[in-house]
Amino acid sequence: MELRGQETIAVIGAGVLGLSSALELIEKPQTSKHQIVIVADHFSTDPPNPVYSTTNAGAHYRPVPAINTQTEREGEHAARTYSRFKKLAAEEPAMGIEFMEGIDYVSGAATANYTAMKPNYVNSEGFRLLEGTEKPQGVKFAARYDSFTVDPETYCFHLLRRFRLKGGKILRLTLQSAEEAFRLDGYNVALVVNCSGMGFGDPKSFIIRVAQQNEDGTWTFIVPRPLDGGTIVGGTKEVRDWNPTASLAVREELLQKGAKMYPGIVNSSGGFDVIRDVVGRRPAREGGMRLEVETLPDKRSIVHAYGIGGRGFETSWGIAEDVQRMVTESMEKRTLMNRL
Ligand SMILES: Cc1cc2nc3c(=O)[nH]c(=O)nc-3n(C[C@H](O)[C@H](O)[C@H](O)COP(=O)(O)OP(=O)(O)OC[C@H]3O[C@@H](n4cnc5c(N)ncnc54)[C@H](O)[C@@H]3O)c2cc1C
Repeated sequence: MELRGQETIAVIGAGVLGLSSALELIEKPQTSKHQIVIVADHFSTDPPNPVYSTTNAGAHYRPVPAINTQTEREGEHAARTYSRFKKLAAEEPAMGIEFMEGIDYVSGAATANYTAMKPNYVNSEGFRLLEGTEKPQGVKFAARYDSFTVDPETYCFHLLRRFRLKGGKILRLTLQSAEEAFRLDGYNVALVVNCSGMGFGDPKSFIIRVAQQNEDGTWTFIVPRPLDGGTIVGGTKEVRDWNPTASLAVREELLQKGAKMYPGIVNSSGGFDVIRDVVGRRPAREGGMRLEVETLPDKRSIVHAYGIGGRGFETSWGIAEDVQRMVTESMEKRTLMNRL
């Protein structure tokens, strides 16, 4: 098949990282001169599926104290992402982003990370310690800050729509490797961005099946979804558990813990109207996400951006900005080499 002349950047993945990165590429002048195509086997308009993390997400913003290089980098991405979400929420209410008060109640082993008052945590907008009557009995650490929540389906629909209106292309395809994206029928692919969630056979990748940290190390979180999207009551954190079905016993336990922490969420008969169970796999990676350029033996580049685990929404724009910068640098290097 004849290749179209225009050089193409192929983005693998239509999760929140693939969509944000593709939009960033199509909106920034250094990269918008190229054709951008998203290649993925799951999109946000498909029915929920545990393998596609994005539409199973809470999804809310929760600053995490930076205690190592991974959480430091995530904190930096989260800070930039926070500003972008604030701007988007003001510009486009239909995107399903809502700002609200966020409250952390922490006990157990994680308490020391919070009482250390790390700058990336205490500098969160609206941060204030909760003490005295504002701190529930038995809770070791309590704080409030300005947070936001997102309805993932609505939000991703708008990202995809915006991408297509700007001329972006979409292909539904299952790839066997990231390199395969250089050989898309009809496209002259010069660079590949790998936002595939787990990567391709990366031995460092693993999943967490599906936040107050309780004394016993478990988590409880309650996240109201914008646009009448219900309230998420969660959650479990089961490393390397591939079971795709929800457990009624776990549902009952989560609802009871949620009602204990925040009695205001029960209905008039003291129970819950359950809309659905959400089972999702957070695409995690030992040592944190892979965010780097790989140069292949034939000098072509793959920009990897996968393995973000449970923080893909709240870090998405910071990561997308880094992807766009790495793509720009790689394409400039390529042009220089072609001239030699
Ligand atoms: C229950 C739950 C609650 C969560 N809560 C939050 C929260 O409150 N805040 C937050 O920030 N994050 C939260 N997350 C995490 C968040 O959902 C993820 O970090 C984020 O969705 C990861 O996005 P991604 O684009 O990297 O991967 P994914 O969403 O998994 O998307 C991967 C994409 O790559 C494509 N792909 C993969 N392999 C191939 C292949 N071989 N061929 C073609 N295409 C391929 C897929 O089709 C898909 O389009 C939560 C997750 C879960 C499960």
